[in-house]
This record gives sequence, C-alpha cells and structure tokens, in this order.
Amino acid sequence: MEIINVIPRGFCKGVVRAIEIAKQTARAYPGQKITILGELVHNRFVVESLRNEGIETIEDKTLSRMDLLERITEGVVIFSAHGIADDVVARAKAKGLITVNAACDDVLHTQELIKTYLAQGFRILYIGQRNHPESQAAISIDPLRIVLVETLDDLPRSLEQETKIFVTNQTTMSQYDIRQILSSIGETYPHAIISDEICSATRTRQEAIMNLENVDCLLVVGDVRSNNTAMLAKIGQTKGIPHVDRIESADELDLSSLRGCERIAVTAGASTPYFLIKQVLDSLDTLKRSLDSEIK
Ligand code: SF4
Repeated sequence: MEIINVIPRGFCKGVVRAIEIAKQTARAYPGQKITILGELVHNRFVVESLRNEGIETIEDKTLSRMDLLERITEGVVIFSAHGIADDVVARAKAKGLITVNAACDDVLHTQELIKTYLAQGFRILYIGQRNHPESQAAISIDPLRIVLVETLDDLPRSLEQETKIFVTNQTTMSQYDIRQILSSIGETYPHAIISDEICSATRTRQEAIMNLENVDCLLVVGDVRSNNTAMLAKIGQTKGIPHVDRIESADELDLSSLRGCERIAVTAGASTPYFLIKQVLDSLDTLKRSLDSEIK
C-alpha cells in the first residue's frame, strides 16, 4: 500500500487570516463579549477551538444572517470569511455593536467586481450555491439585478435584450462544473463579460486531485458544510477514482474497506486543521505497517 499526501491541501490563506483576525479581536477587546455571526470558516473543530478561547459562534441554518444578528445584543460581532451583506453590517452598527470583518480578500474582490459592473448598468449572472453564505452575500448586493445560477437549468433565457451581462462565481466552485456552465453561458450570451473567480487556493487544491495518477482511493478530510471540501470529492469522482470518501476526522475512517487499496491519496478542504489530516495519515500509516507485516 502506498499513501500519497496530496499537496497543496488544508488551510488556505483566507482561513488562516480569518482565524488570526478572530484571535486578535479577542486580544483587542478583553472583557467584551465576542460573537462570530455564522461559522467563521466551515469546520466544527475550528469553531470549538475558538470557543475555548472565549470567542462564541452563533449559527442557525434556518435563519438569515440578518435574523441571526438580532440575537447579538452587545460587544463585538465578527463577520465570517465568506463575506457579509452591507445591510447586515449597517444593522450591526446601528445596534451599537463593534464590527470586525474577517471576509477573505478573494471574496471581497468578487463583491467589488459585481458592484463595479452593476454601477455600469450590467445584469449579473452569479454561479454559486443558494444556501452558501458567500453566494447569499453576493446576491444581496442587488437581488433584482443579480441572477443566481446553481446549475445549467437555472440559466435564464430571458436576457436576450440585455446588452450588458457580467458573469462571475463563488470562489470555491468545481473547475469542471464552472467550465460547463461558463461555456453554456458563452453560447447563449456571446457578448457576456466573464470573470471566473475560483480562488487560487481552491484551484490549486483541485488541480492536485486532477493530476493524481493510478490512485484507487481518495480520502477528503473536511467538514460536511465545507463547499471546497465537497468540490474536492466531486472532482475525484468526476476523474474516475474508484473509491472516494469524505471524512470529518480519523474517527470516520473505515480502515477495513481500504485493505484492498494499492494507492491511497489524502487531501483536505481549505478549512481543515492540520491535526485532523495528520491523524488520518497516522491511521493509514498504522494500517500500512500492519498489512506489510502480514505479507512478511
Ligand atoms: Fe479565500 Fe479561497 Fe480560502 Fe475561501 S477558499 S477563504 S476564497 S482563499
């Protein structure tokens, strides 16, 4: 058995920065209540470790960020790495809260692009996921002029009269999916201006999976809510890797199902802490040594 430690994988610059901002905020406001609006990044181990440092997270998937904000009555509110709608920031300030924005620069860049094109009278097609906070923040910029495209079925046919169409996307989409959707948009609206905003961290992690050769198993370590983790697994499946498993930690490893695998690759989403990846690699190493000793 060979274990391939896929590089790059795990924490991206945006996640490292968001965690650092949260910790700096705790140091800057001792004695104040500090609350993150929604998960800072999509990983429950990160959320728990911040809680251990006195930084609370409030999350309820059935509520919008605006509704969730109403539960925060004092102190500092930190907005997550996925970006936040301007009206939520304004409401937080109006409530007298101290606001700190941990949005990733790449997410902010996409939001700025959208604002720039909207100001020039463009309609926007935004490729993303309806329930993801990054998409929700982007759409909230102007819900009437931004159309969310989750799949090809959502592609509007009614914009033929629009001479100005700008197309962009959530930063953590799958390169395979986006290629398909963008090419379809290009055929329907050849005059559309397209800016593929998949971030470089997502891109390089996905390319590392695309470049794997002769792998019969891919393990993707990451939280169930992490979109970039989901996309890594999806790319492994699209590539035709026979056995692709998403696991949150080594506790979910099904070692018996891996006994027949020759080459096992391990990757992780951009919000997965290194210690979780290390535990998985260590468990696989133990399995490999046990199999090697059986052969001898
Ligand atoms: Fe930023 Fe990309 Fe990391 Fe998201 S995955 S936080 S967009 S660098």
